[in-house]
Amino acid sequence: MSAWECDIDDCGKQFGSVEDAIVHQTTEHERRECEVCGSVVPDGYFAIRHAFDEHSRAEYVRSYDADSSAVRVREQVRDEVEEAADLKSVVDRLDELDGSELP
Ligand SMILES: [Zn+2]
Ligand SMILES: [Zn+2]
Repeated sequence: MSAWECDIDDCGKQFGSVEDAIVHQTTEHERRECEVCGSVVPDGYFAIRHAFDEHSRAEYVRSYDADSSAVRVREQVRDEVEEAADLKSVVDRLDELDGSELP
């Protein structure tokens, strides 16, 4: 199985499982404000999921000054994560770590 790498900023940390990578992104990186709606969301996978679940591609492109290939890359990351990850276990682990709410 290939390693999952955190691609936030220059982090580059590698993890043996996608769940570990998401927990890392959510707990060790600053949360950021969504450029579309101003919600504060964990960076990494949850930020991508928020952007594409809550907003249209057009909104994303406009607000982030992104192009369609940037959208495709993020949608691909989301699909890969969702295929590989047990998101319920991620959420359970995050719940144990701190009581704060997730999007
Ligand atoms: Zn990281
Ligand atoms: Zn938003």
